[in-house]
Amino acid sequence: MKILRTPEEMLRFAARSSRRRGATGFVPTMGALHEGHLSLIRTSRGACATTVVSLYVNPLQFGPGEDFDTYPRDLEGDLALLKKERVSVVFLPDDAAMYPPGFSTRVVVGGSLTAGLCAPHRPGHFEGVATVVARLLGLVRPDRLYLGLKDYQQFRVLQRMVEDLALPVEVVGCPVVREPDGLAFSSRNRRLSQKGREAAPVLYRALKVGKALADLGETDPARVLAEVRRVVTEEKAVRLQYLEAVDGETLAPVEKVGKGTVLALAAYLENVRLIDNIMV
Ligand code: AMP
Repeated sequence: MKILRTPEEMLRFAARSSRRRGATGFVPTMGALHEGHLSLIRTSRGACATTVVSLYVNPLQFGPGEDFDTYPRDLEGDLALLKKERVSVVFLPDDAAMYPPGFSTRVVVGGSLTAGLCAPHRPGHFEGVATVVARLLGLVRPDRLYLGLKDYQQFRVLQRMVEDLALPVEVVGCPVVREPDGLAFSSRNRRLSQKGREAAPVLYRALKVGKALADLGETDPARVLAEVRRVVTEEKAVRLQYLEAVDGETLAPVEKVGKGTVLALAAYLENVRLIDNIMV
């Protein structure tokens, strides 16, 4: 397993692997790796000759007052896991490698994809995500980009960016990986107390109730969302930030819930912000 840290090293490796046969898969992460990340890595390893994983907590995607400083970091644990997964390359840039002096570009994905859900609650977040991933794609030059559907809006935004900028990479969305009790794996779960951890599965439980209602034929988003909200409020420690029923392609709010509708939410629990979603 190679550990590369500078843009020059990464570009050199990318140039060499483009001359080799076989595809390169890329899994960008912010570290504190868990089963969700590992499933992306395994999917890439199954389909690509070379798998590159990046570990970088991107300051550009955190707003003032957000959890950049307390975001879980575990470089040693991450490297041990990546070695076990037998990834080819770990890209480990620092801030100077990602944003060298003079760096002045921002990638903005507009329209309905960034009108709702997390976007109004995290101004600048998707700009930060799109900008860092655009630069990472330039450095890693992969054939396939593996993203988790747990961050559903992020997946759609990056898919749009790749299409709009005609970037030569295939975007692959991978299913949400969950704990046995339904809680979606997230690096931020590490910050929950035992009590918080026990309360957190209510989010997916509630989303499943909403989906079940829709599967039974309920099409009124207000009714579906009211039911989800009712289940979430069973846990007093959980505070919903948003709950929306959106079109899975455009992310615009739906007037009728049906096939392809995504129920998505963000909630605070013990100061930890968790997101989750389910597709009808
Ligand atoms: P992060 O380190 O949180 O930026 O996540 C890196 C990648 O892993 C993103 O594409 C996420 O969508 C994906 N990911 C995170 N958690 C999960 C999960 N529970 N299931 C599937 N993918 C995930």
